[in-house]
Amino acid sequence: MSDAPWDRFGATREQWCDWGWQMRQRIRSAEELAKIIPPSEDEAAAIAALGDRFRFVITPYYASLMDRNDSDCPVRRQVVPRLAELDDPVGLADPLDEVAHSPVKNLVRVYPDRVAFCVNNECALYCRYCLRKRMVGDEDWTMKRRELTAAIDWIRRTPEIRDVLLTGGDPLVFADDRLEWLLRELRAIPHVEIIRLGTRLPVTLPFRITDDLVRMLERYHPIWLNTHFNHPRELTPEAAEACDRLTRAGIPVGNQSVLLAGINDDIATMKALCEGLVRLRVRPYYCYQAQLLEGTAHFRVPIERGLDLFEALRGRTSGYAIPLYVLDTPHGKVPLQRSAIRRRDGDYVEVEAWNGGVWRELNPT
Ligand code: SF4
Repeated sequence: MSDAPWDRFGATREQWCDWGWQMRQRIRSAEELAKIIPPSEDEAAAIAALGDRFRFVITPYYASLMDRNDSDCPVRRQVVPRLAELDDPVGLADPLDEVAHSPVKNLVRVYPDRVAFCVNNECALYCRYCLRKRMVGDEDWTMKRRELTAAIDWIRRTPEIRDVLLTGGDPLVFADDRLEWLLRELRAIPHVEIIRLGTRLPVTLPFRITDDLVRMLERYHPIWLNTHFNHPRELTPEAAEACDRLTRAGIPVGNQSVLLAGINDDIATMKALCEGLVRLRVRPYYCYQAQLLEGTAHFRVPIERGLDLFEALRGRTSGYAIPLYVLDTPHGKVPLQRSAIRRRDGDYVEVEAWNGGVWRELNPT
């Protein structure tokens, strides 16, 4: 028998490359995970303790990137629960106060001219540091057609909105016809200039980027897409092919990573990630400071460490390969440079947003 990942699932290569098969075969328990990697005691206990709180689901493809001998593997740590999630006394359910910025269910408006439209509560897998833990993977948040229609009606009635980000969850988990319905409705609104897709599927399920999908997307240009690679190990030939399909269809592809302790918070890893992305013609766009989000203290990095890291990249690689390091706040994103920090006050960092709003972020050194 070969060492091919599909053999471990008793599947053929053709099945492995079928995104529908990957979705149906997703790993949902410690027992299923054990077929790929033996979970550590901590991981097995955390899956049992936390699975209900935030869904544990992984695609076979993404699981095949994990190191079976290293529970600190940077791919594994992103998606397999750890008991450290129970040790976060300060994390919040909604650190960006998105609920208060929602004029109608599913829409988040922080800026005058654009909205994030959370069209779907499902993802191919669930990242342990997900900002929308409060809703993704939760069946109570399933978006009904009438709720999507209500949000589209609001956009139609709001002429200032020129830029709509389809996010979730993951909009590309939708079947092509459902996604096309949304795109068609939005394209029929004259003041919507651009539609952006926020999706992690090029990373977690690259087979979703089919020829049929990109042909459909091309009909609704200008479409932009941001994806979410966090570590060079995710830059596989399959992911490269997915990004190539998108860029050949005229869709600019950017990357939004999150600075995660022990995963990508060192210069060599971040440099390899960003240079690898540029080789795929994917622009490193943002790197987010990890939010003050419940169950994620073990992922957070002191802001000064992030500043040191991105300063060290300057001059050591192409400007194209250096993303903007940002802190997202309820006032919007703040680009993090030393000059942006008004002051550090003990465990708090004080920054000023684009609209003059002052934000104090709890961020121990
Ligand atoms: S893919 Fe994105 S929305 Fe889905 S769980 Fe991961 S971070 Fe959250």
